[in-house]
Amino acid sequence: MRSIVVIGAGMGGLAAALRLQKAGFQVTVLEKQPRAGGRSNVIEECGYRVDIGPTILVMKSVFDETYRALGYTFDERLNMARLDPNYRVYFHDGDHIDLYGDMPSLADEVERIEPGSAERLFEFIGAGAKKYALGMGFVERNYDHLTDLANPRAGLQLLRTRSYQKLYDQVAGYFQSDKLRKAFSFHSMFLGLSPFDALAMYSLITYADIAHGMWYPQGGIYAIIEDMLALADELGVDVRTNAPVAEILVEAGRATGVRLESGEIVRADLVVSNADLPYTYRHLLPAQERRPSTLDRLQNMDYACSGYLLYLGVKGTFPGMRHQALYFSEDYRANLDAIFHARTIPADPSFHLNNPTISDPTLAPPGHSLLYVLAPMPNLQGDVEWPQAAPQVRETLLNQLEKLVDPHLRENIVWSREYTPVDFARDYNAVHGTAFGSLSHGFFQSSYFRPHNKARDIPGLYFVGQGTYPGIGMPMVLLSARLVTERIVQEWC
Ligand SMILES: Cc1cc2nc3c(=O)[nH]c(=O)nc-3n(C[C@H](O)[C@H](O)[C@H](O)COP(=O)(O)OP(=O)(O)OC[C@H]3O[C@@H](n4cnc5c(N)ncnc54)[C@H](O)[C@@H]3O)c2cc1C
Repeated sequence: MRSIVVIGAGMGGLAAALRLQKAGFQVTVLEKQPRAGGRSNVIEECGYRVDIGPTILVMKSVFDETYRALGYTFDERLNMARLDPNYRVYFHDGDHIDLYGDMPSLADEVERIEPGSAERLFEFIGAGAKKYALGMGFVERNYDHLTDLANPRAGLQLLRTRSYQKLYDQVAGYFQSDKLRKAFSFHSMFLGLSPFDALAMYSLITYADIAHGMWYPQGGIYAIIEDMLALADELGVDVRTNAPVAEILVEAGRATGVRLESGEIVRADLVVSNADLPYTYRHLLPAQERRPSTLDRLQNMDYACSGYLLYLGVKGTFPGMRHQALYFSEDYRANLDAIFHARTIPADPSFHLNNPTISDPTLAPPGHSLLYVLAPMPNLQGDVEWPQAAPQVRETLLNQLEKLVDPHLRENIVWSREYTPVDFARDYNAVHGTAFGSLSHGFFQSSYFRPHNKARDIPGLYFVGQGTYPGIGMPMVLLSARLVTERIVQEWC
């Protein structure tokens, strides 16, 4: 039986380990942190259980397929509920819109904000459906040659759907209202990209939210990681935590295992790295294997944004809130330019506000709520000093929350934790402290142009997770696990 070491127990690393074990390899996962999950992690303290990373499950069909491939049924193992509305979007003037998956309700909301816009909403969703079909053709495959991109029909569709335009500009063509423009363009932020820079192609995410729904597993997103760990147990994958890898062993030009920081050597026929891909090339390859041209290329790529996160345990419940919400500052562009271009802290940060206790009261002690605030922030390529900046950001966010949620919120906070870009770098070896994933998703960092899931010069070394294709987000890293498994099975079985 051939053996494989997977470096990192993020969702992508775990999914790859499960698939490879199922395919007949003996897999060991080595994770530096005390708890598996990577960016999809959890804090359990004082009766609160908070997902500290992802909170939104979209493209559920990818989760279904992952479980099917392993011989299980996702819905039988996890208690999934569909959220509707998907989000409540709050605006600076106190107004809000509920973004329903239910079409008549969504149309009513859109009409309320911009009378006469419902038909254009349906056109926008229809165009999103075309982009989704087109996009899935690019993400569900491995790439070897540039010619793999050559697909005249897809090229024609790219032109027809004007997917090459900027996302915000295209959305602005459908809606006159500043509020609707914000509400239907923000989704690229979850790939770490400004809608002013992202390709219009990424309105496929808006379409996926609306048409395929947004889901929540009881126990939170970390319940999926826990279930993957249970599956690892059932299938015989060895998952070791507190096991940081110091170096990938390369002998006679091929990967032969890893050396842990403890000095222990774990030999394997193949190595799959789920750690940030640029970090793997720069820090885990032996010095003599680090090619300056590869390191330069990775260094010069665009890195995604980071985030400041505030988790609050609060006395009381807020039945008027929605499970998921977003707050948009008045000057949307200034907020995004600060994050992505000036790399400074925005004066009036937009943020994602999550109250999972609306759907799942077990996440907090009785009569209490859990609030999760994620404000996108510049990554560490800027010069923000987080130890000094964090208290100020926290105050700004609490001021906003007192306007949106409860004027007495501060008095009722009984537990809180925060997480900054510095923490992403320290905990997960996230290059430049990026939050959602390392490399952003411009055209020349997607599909064939994203770093491949196989090291070109080192046989036996592969990659899985957000750093390789298809990219950032839970569904994408699950797809990346499928793609790297297909490649390894094809090459080694
Ligand atoms: C705040 C936040 C909100 C998000 N929201 C969503 C959302 O709502 N929906 C969604 O789909 N996605 C969301 N994402 C993105 C999603 O969580 C990530 O894209 C995805 O989880 C990345 O998984 P991964 O397997 O690629 O790698 P990671 O999660 O980055 O895991 C890599 C693992 O490798 C380990 N590692 C690194 N170096 C070493 C080493 N030397 N030795 C051993 N182990 C090592 C790390 O500790 C880590 O556990 C969010 C992310 C964040 C941070």
